[in-house]
Amino acid sequence: MKTIAYQQCINPNCAATFDVGQTLTACTGCGELLDINYQWNKAALPKSLREFQARWQNRRFPLDYSGVWRFRDLLPFASDAMVCTVGEGQTFLQNAVCLGRHLGMWPGQLWLQYEGMNPSGSFKDNGMTAAFTHARIVGAQRVACASTGNTSASLALFAAMNGFQGIVFIGTGKIAFGKLSQALDYGARTLQIEGDFDTCLARVRQVSGQLGLYLMNSVNPFRLEGQKTIMYRILEALNWESPDWIIVPGGNLGNCSAFGKAFFELRELGLIKRIPRLAVINATGANTLHELVAGGLTWNGGNVNQAAITEHYKRMERDGIHAHTVASAIEIGHPVNLKKALRALHTMNGVVAQVTDEEILEAKALIGRFGFGCEPASAATIAGLQQLLARNIISRHERVACVLTGHGLKDPDATVYYHTGVNTKQAKQPEAQATWGHMSNQPVKVADDLDAIVQALGLDKNTLNNSRSTGYVPTPVELPFVEY
Ligand SMILES: *Cc1c(COP(=O)(O)O)cnc(C)c1O
Ligand SMILES: [Zn+2]
Repeated sequence: MKTIAYQQCINPNCAATFDVGQTLTACTGCGELLDINYQWNKAALPKSLREFQARWQNRRFPLDYSGVWRFRDLLPFASDAMVCTVGEGQTFLQNAVCLGRHLGMWPGQLWLQYEGMNPSGSFKDNGMTAAFTHARIVGAQRVACASTGNTSASLALFAAMNGFQGIVFIGTGKIAFGKLSQALDYGARTLQIEGDFDTCLARVRQVSGQLGLYLMNSVNPFRLEGQKTIMYRILEALNWESPDWIIVPGGNLGNCSAFGKAFFELRELGLIKRIPRLAVINATGANTLHELVAGGLTWNGGNVNQAAITEHYKRMERDGIHAHTVASAIEIGHPVNLKKALRALHTMNGVVAQVTDEEILEAKALIGRFGFGCEPASAATIAGLQQLLARNIISRHERVACVLTGHGLKDPDATVYYHTGVNTKQAKQPEAQATWGHMSNQPVKVADDLDAIVQALGLDKNTLNNSRSTGYVPTPVELPFVEY
């Protein structure tokens, strides 16, 4: 007996099922989101998650090398021959000892899952490999997405490497240049339409339905199957023990939804004892999930209070509220996976917090200062952790894994602006403004002259050859010693 995969409506009152050979982004009956579900053949599954780790040593077999497909038994909807892989998911969980100590946590308890190491520089590759595999199964040739940037970068890369035509819809002026440069370089047809991300996505859903483009946004349930593996890799790095908390930024809420599904299934399959708690972090300028959950909205066994959601969106429209945050990857007002996110919060006993742009940029600088680059949206995790520690929702002794969703070089403008006050997006540069970043690290203007350089470095010319004698301390952060 083989494990059978099928698509299923998440609404328990409908629960309609569809063949995996169909291309759908919503239930044709009731319009709700779809899951990929499985009738598991448990006998064919590894008895323990440990069996997966051995596969990684098999570096020459692309499916074993992939950080997604070496877990293929847990997303078994495709035959090996159909898989579109570009070596995604070679990411690692880094023990952020110094940063954890700086935040007052117990030694060794803070971990950062560095998804910026993916081929296109964000976690999106985990989902894109699964959705492209499905696109290949159904014979699609043109693939499309609306994007705040990283989805389009990932789509463009996978399209270029696997022989699809990539089509990308971006909003006006909202995209970080690192991301736009990728979509252009990988040859995606890039359409910049007026409006924000929410407008873009609504349009691309309409256009793709009418023109038969295969839609790669996270309403595509196959995306989320690939993104489950981020959790498997975190468990693997922790010797298959659950951390106490998973923290993730929330934009369209596909990632947190995938995490909840991953743990729900692992528990169902008897492969895990304890499910970690989930913290989803919104930016205050794009806080739909936070507002609705704070107002009491829950999964409620699948009977989500739709009236409360509709009412919230009406209020946003009436008040002219559009998503606005420096963390462009989570600048989303109408998160399409909202209901799945509520379900994930239920599965993982989760919480939602919101953090300001300033908190995000300070957290990003802190992450950077301890040696991990990430883009602003990713830093919402550490800003959220700081807040949840202060509110005693997370305890200092608990083990926390934050997902750093995107690479630091995705949005260098945000970083340069933080440190120098120079806004690279302005054509004519004014003299650099006073910076407001607390950890601002400005380049120092210095004459092309030895004495001037020595002075700028705070060195003593007489002891220049003695590298231990410098009193130079380049940082406003106190680097703590580590004790075990
Ligand atoms: C897409 C993205 C997010 C948001 O993830 P969702 O699944 O949409 O909630 C966060 N950070 C980065 C870097 C992203 O690219
Ligand atoms: Zn339905």
